[in-house]
Amino acid sequence: MKQAQTIHSVLRQHWGFDSFRPMQEQIIRSVMEGRDTLALMPTGGGKSLTYQVPAMAQEGICIVITPLIALMKDQVDNLRRREISAIAIHSGMTPRQIDIALDNCVYGDVKFLYIAPERLATEVFRLRVQKMKVSLLAVDEAHCISQWGYDFRPSYLRIAEVRRLIPDTPILALTASATKVVEEDIIDKLSLADPAILRSSFTRDNLSYSVRAVDDKNDQLMRIIGNVAGSGIVYVRTREGAEKIASWLREQGESADYYHGGLPNAERSLRQEDWTQGRTRIMVATNAFGMGIDKADVRFVVHYTMCDSLESYYQEAGRAGRDGKRSYAVLLTSPDDEQRVVKRFESEFPPLSEIKSIYEKVCNYVGVAIGDGLQSSFLFNIHDFATREHIFTGKIQSALKILQQNGYLTLTEEMENPARIMFCVSRDDLYKIRVERNDLDHFLRTILRMYNGVFTEFRAIDENEIASVSGYTLERVKELFKRLWQMRIIRYVPSNRSPILFFDEERLPVDDIYIAPETYRLRKEMIHERFSKMLSYASNQEHCRSRILAEYFGDSEAGDCGICDICLAKRKRQKAESFSGDFKAEIIKLLSERNLSAREIVAEFRCDPQPLLDTLKQMHEEGSIRTDSAGVIHKIKP
Ligand code: ADP
Ligand code: MG
Repeated sequence: MKQAQTIHSVLRQHWGFDSFRPMQEQIIRSVMEGRDTLALMPTGGGKSLTYQVPAMAQEGICIVITPLIALMKDQVDNLRRREISAIAIHSGMTPRQIDIALDNCVYGDVKFLYIAPERLATEVFRLRVQKMKVSLLAVDEAHCISQWGYDFRPSYLRIAEVRRLIPDTPILALTASATKVVEEDIIDKLSLADPAILRSSFTRDNLSYSVRAVDDKNDQLMRIIGNVAGSGIVYVRTREGAEKIASWLREQGESADYYHGGLPNAERSLRQEDWTQGRTRIMVATNAFGMGIDKADVRFVVHYTMCDSLESYYQEAGRAGRDGKRSYAVLLTSPDDEQRVVKRFESEFPPLSEIKSIYEKVCNYVGVAIGDGLQSSFLFNIHDFATREHIFTGKIQSALKILQQNGYLTLTEEMENPARIMFCVSRDDLYKIRVERNDLDHFLRTILRMYNGVFTEFRAIDENEIASVSGYTLERVKELFKRLWQMRIIRYVPSNRSPILFFDEERLPVDDIYIAPETYRLRKEMIHERFSKMLSYASNQEHCRSRILAEYFGDSEAGDCGICDICLAKRKRQKAESFSGDFKAEIIKLLSERNLSAREIVAEFRCDPQPLLDTLKQMHEEGSIRTDSAGVIHKIKP
């Protein structure tokens, strides 16, 4: 009883929420009883609170393992805004920064340590973690531990070792996507002891799924936009596609914009904000549009092109109707979709020899020599690399995934990176420059003071802060850095948004790169299986769509939703069937009230028109009704 009060008051005090979402409370209780727990909950279901609330209700620090740096930062910012102390450790940080952060976890009063899985293996972490008072080990995206899952990350396998260092700490494994096999694998690989398995529902009662097989997708898209009020998202596969469809919609007089990963950062936020605030009605986007969408009243999500998997489909479609009101998720398909998907798969899945060659090119691109690079990270712009090497982005991604699964590299998703500089002149030379170049002296002195002297390693700097300390505008600061760079006084990497490539191992000669044939074959099969499921969802004509999705996520209790296109068609058919005998009586009843056209009569019944039309024909022949010259049907009085 005491505990219930505690967790509710924690929820209210720190988050301002009045009640828990379905399953949250059960998960929290299970964790607080000290039990290992596996929780399966859809994206957006509220998994974070299931470890954050117990951590706040108990003493000690909660360690959260999560692979996505952007989400990690998001969470940390979020907690800090609530005045909860939280720290992140990821591959974008220098060893020194990591060292300081870990010390704070041991000696400070840090409540949450978010850590990227590839950091668990390091000696610094292992030594420090044993000194921490860990209340809970939360494993987010736990499916990453399974080879049978799509996102397998070998570094997740280290978690069990970490657990052995802090044996009395319960584990909470969280995921939104686990088939039965993956579920069992999570339990096995994390060595969960008699775990509680808690699963919340994957159905969305207010979301109506449908698939439209059409020849003209634009025409169908306009219909949906015309029929459904409110704002929506149109997902397309490519950046060009997003631009093209958005401009086409604008030509049709719709309020539409586009969003994709090729847009500068500021531009992206601006567009997202306009859409969130309702100034733009429709966002045409690639899958880069997703993280951090916080808009409850999205009325429709149309997929103009097929997704690679039902996971992505479910997640993207699920952005509609967060406010609980009726919303629509429509997938547009055309007859050649299947062929196209298969072809894409063939062209994007690289043969073994090509994986090795991509490995070599990537190493050269980031400037890592053979024997170097161990445990270091580099900015890696995959699009730039793709353009330079003339390789499909999709193929590079596949190759990197396979290299990742074999433990060579880890590619993290995009993140904000601070600007970095490093001096390439000696202290003495720098002094000379300052004397000679009066115009640069103030700026150089500011940097030296703020960052404590000349440094010969890359170091993250905060351009905004430099601006306010030096009194220059941000633009001027950037210009000055560029100038110093051109003068070869510093090396300068402007702040940017880019994925990070982390070398789990040093660079090896290509001949030493070993790709286990099983992992290769497995991955090929898995990808194949994933899009086959997507294709069969699209071509399905008999099973409730909501139920197919729920079952895909292992939720076998879901019933028919009653609102997807399949359920609606079924209901129509049943209505027509159950009606067959009574059509005549019903028509007479309708016509006693007023005269109607055949079309209006059909509309009244909302069923398959054929049996109705047959009945009308029969009634004409019997002479119980007649149609006038305007096409209106009259009842003939007996
Ligand atoms: P997941 O990790 O399962 O995708 P999150 O933990 O990111 O989901 O939560 C999604 C959103 O739901 C967040 O904005 C969070 O604040 C909100 N949320 C979670 N639990 C509750 C609750 N009990 N009441 C209100 N909002 C909640
Ligand atoms: Mg989450």
